Amino acid sequence: MAPTDDYAPSSCFGNFFSFKKKQQSTRSSRSVPAARTQPAAPSYYPATSEKLPAYDECVSKAFEQLDVKGDSEVERIVANAIDNVSDELRTISLDLHEHMETGMKEFHAHKVLTDYLESKGFIVTRHAYGMETAFTAEYSNGPGKRIGLCSEYDGLPGLGQACGHNLIAISGVATAIGVKAVLESGKASGKVILFGTPAEELSIGKIILVQKRAIQDNVDVALMLHPAAYHAERGAMIAIHDVRLEFFGKASHASAAPWEGINALDAMVQVWNSISMMRQQLLPTDRVHGIVTDGGKAPNVIPDYTSAFFFVRTTKFNQIGRLMHKMEECFKAAALATGCEVKWTWREIGVTKDVVANDPMADVYQRYMEKHGIQFPTPAEQAATGGGSTDFGNISYEVPSLHPMFGIHTTAANHTIQFVEAAKTEVAHKDAILASKGLTVTAVEVLRNDTLYERIQADFKKIKN
Ligand SMILES: [Zn+2]
Ligand SMILES: [Zn+2]
Repeated sequence: MAPTDDYAPSSCFGNFFSFKKKQQSTRSSRSVPAARTQPAAPSYYPATSEKLPAYDECVSKAFEQLDVKGDSEVERIVANAIDNVSDELRTISLDLHEHMETGMKEFHAHKVLTDYLESKGFIVTRHAYGMETAFTAEYSNGPGKRIGLCSEYDGLPGLGQACGHNLIAISGVATAIGVKAVLESGKASGKVILFGTPAEELSIGKIILVQKRAIQDNVDVALMLHPAAYHAERGAMIAIHDVRLEFFGKASHASAAPWEGINALDAMVQVWNSISMMRQQLLPTDRVHGIVTDGGKAPNVIPDYTSAFFFVRTTKFNQIGRLMHKMEECFKAAALATGCEVKWTWREIGVTKDVVANDPMADVYQRYMEKHGIQFPTPAEQAATGGGSTDFGNISYEVPSLHPMFGIHTTAANHTIQFVEAAKTEVAHKDAILASKGLTVTAVEVLRNDTLYERIQADFKKIKN
């Protein structure tokens, strides 16, 4: 459906990138010789434009080969089905925005979404996979491929729906309804399963789903959407792990007998300095950030206990071990230098993996959205941005997956009070509806196009290589 006069699709990302390019060219013309502005990318570096063929040409050639022309009748069924429920979804979205709940406590969202999905003819399982606020909603019209979708609905304490998960919730529902409509029309055969996935902000729900094989045993592909200040059909997200660190020393009077003490705060300061120096040798894409959670109790007592909490992030899951090892060496060195005992505990549930976008599915989504006026930055530009993480990454390592970001007519970053406001506007709702249609068309193409599906599977093998 073409945008109406009062609704121009968001293209904040395009503006953002043209601004960024201007900044870069100014800097390079001032201080870097022209011949050195495009060095060969080292092998560990994220994809860059130097390594990629001309993207637009590839996409059109790929579509010729894949025979993905876009069935206008299917697209009409999808658009009608989603437009028909848009007002109801708007009501649900505002409800979830107003009644924000934090991870694993999304009881209201769980009830609202499961009741609604049941009323729309889905087979609903509440409290799925041992999680009180998880659910599944399924519909099948016979044999065929199985489409997995995700809805999130948790918010951020102290902020609200600052990541727009109210829009993710309804986009998952809208996409499920769109796929169901196509299945009912007889234009495709197969199954759609919407997973209600709690606690994304705590990176829990989808990791548990993967651990319980909810994804691997039940779906062939997985798709979801996420709102942002920009559009990105691939939605780069990086891997993250976290560690809790403790030092145990010996208390003593800080003035009368400091030599009797073993200073656990000194150990913590030592760790901070070691990590600060270590950063100089990290990759530009690595991140280490943390806080001291206990720095001692009183200034006149040598602290016998301190603790800290760190996040480590890097672009690829298989690089996390490198960072973990470096961190542990810093911990051990500080303990040795100060005479403290040290204990560290990596997150028990495990690493949150990076999101691996399936290129053939991303291309189908992009093509639909571009037809409706959305502009996307190049894959290289997308790979160079981001810095966030999501538990959908763990799903993307199990089945071919797609996690596009859709712009909601804001320049505010996620996790800000401004984004809370942006996530409830009428225009953001329209953005979510358009993106849901794009995701539905992508899912339906997976069901209907075996050649595309072969490409999807071949692309997924890149994870193993
Ligand atoms: Zn978030
Ligand atoms: Zn989010």
